Amino acid sequence: MSRATSQRRDQIRTMLADLRLPGALEAVDEILADIDGGALTASEAIERLLSAQISLRNNRRLQTAMRSSRLPAVKLLEQFDFAFQPSIRREQIESLHELGFIKRKENVVFLGPPGVGKTHLAISLAIAAAQNGRRVYYGTLVSLIESLEQARAAGQLARRLRVLSHPALLIVDEIGYLPVSRDGAVLFFQLINTRYEHASTVLTSNKGFEEWGEILGDDVMAAALIDRLMHHCHVVNIRGNSYRMREHTDLWQTIQDKQSDEVSPRRRRRKEPQTA
Ligand code: ADP
Ligand code: MG
Repeated sequence: MSRATSQRRDQIRTMLADLRLPGALEAVDEILADIDGGALTASEAIERLLSAQISLRNNRRLQTAMRSSRLPAVKLLEQFDFAFQPSIRREQIESLHELGFIKRKENVVFLGPPGVGKTHLAISLAIAAAQNGRRVYYGTLVSLIESLEQARAAGQLARRLRVLSHPALLIVDEIGYLPVSRDGAVLFFQLINTRYEHASTVLTSNKGFEEWGEILGDDVMAAALIDRLMHHCHVVNIRGNSYRMREHTDLWQTIQDKQSDEVSPRRRRRKEPQTA
């Protein structure tokens, strides 16, 4: 290598350090070696250099988000096995991960039985958003209501609602697993109202919308809530087997059969035509 080339390369390193681009700085020697070896075109080299910096920046954003967002785990779209869940339209999920819905302040609702990947996909959306520099926050319905109740007891409800209206994406996980009081349901309604048309909310539930009245203890309020959520909303209805139980399909089938035996008498009654 000529003296001039070697000097130029030193200068590139100095400039990357000066610009505070540690990801690019770390990658540059290998990229230059690949250029020397004829393995890279000029545009490929530029792309690799910039990608190295972007991926470092995204990882840092993710680390920061994991500390502040209360996300319970790292779940990525790449880890999601679409073959296992054929009721999901892969294009829909991939297009959601491009995050246009956050710009448009739309909501996403994942519905389906336990273990089908609702939380996984909600988190992977939040992670994509965090890597994109958006503020995200995670809570289960019960924990969010608890935090609002505590804030109210301390005379800070309006403030807490304002704080929860800030994240570009809020996950409300596990609607329907645990009962909420009517009072709690009113707080949840206020939360959704605060975020309505202002920022995106991703919700997950093991119960269909028709059962939300029962969960929230008030059909009229549930209808008003669903009305706001659905105004700009993507609904992902997952029908399939639990991924957690994938190695126990026989057991899973037994549980499903038992559950449908338990609910079907009520369902049948509802559907019966009026004969009187
Ligand atoms: P849900 O919220 O619907 O009850 P989760 O999203 O918590 O289910 O999924 C349960 C576990 O199975 C999690 O560890 C999740 O990462 C994993 N999982 C679920 N579905 C898939 C899938 N299709 N591919 C890979 N992992 C999955
Ligand atoms: Mg879940």
